[in-house]
Amino acid sequence: MSYQLTFQKLEPKADQPQQHQNDVLLVKMENAAAGLKKCFKCGEAKTTNDFYKHSAMADGLLGKCKDCTKKDAANRIERVKNDVNWVEKERERCRNKQVIYRKTHVVKTYPEVKERWADKNKIKRKAQFAANNALRDGKIKRSEICEICGAKGELEKHHPDYEKPLLIQWLCLKCHGLTRRKNKYVPIGRNP
Ligand SMILES: [Zn+2]
Ligand SMILES: [Zn+2]
Repeated sequence: MSYQLTFQKLEPKADQPQQHQNDVLLVKMENAAAGLKKCFKCGEAKTTNDFYKHSAMADGLLGKCKDCTKKDAANRIERVKNDVNWVEKERERCRNKQVIYRKTHVVKTYPEVKERWADKNKIKRKAQFAANNALRDGKIKRSEICEICGAKGELEKHHPDYEKPLLIQWLCLKCHGLTRRKNKYVPIGRNP
């Protein structure tokens, strides 16, 4: 079955606007009957599986296909990735998403993944172990606030030096993330 031929009919016919509209409708109906939808971006007729769901659309699907959506998203990232304002906002958005996810899902760590990590990070693992035990035994205390920015909420243990396993800092997700960042730049509104 050739959809290319079907879509030839979609070429605008300036002298027959009504006929053109009818043709468009006809093609839409044919597509729907065949379980297909035309992407407005690349013009290809694809199966409904090739479109992301979107509740605001009449048919519940986005107007452009997954391939086009992915391409557009990649192009957008290319455009904005050097914009520090955007990067900072995006990180904030992802952190918030992560916090909500952790509250609503059981985060499962697969034993083999854990083992592989521990194998590669023996010193880190040892320090984590010692810190967890010390916390359990009351040798170190949980902080109520982030030790860098003073934020409340979910805090994580940070080892500034893995050679000193009991020296830990309690940090919010944001500050903990900053300690791990390879490309260090001064985030907006924050003193270095
Ligand atoms: Zn497309
Ligand atoms: Zn913080």
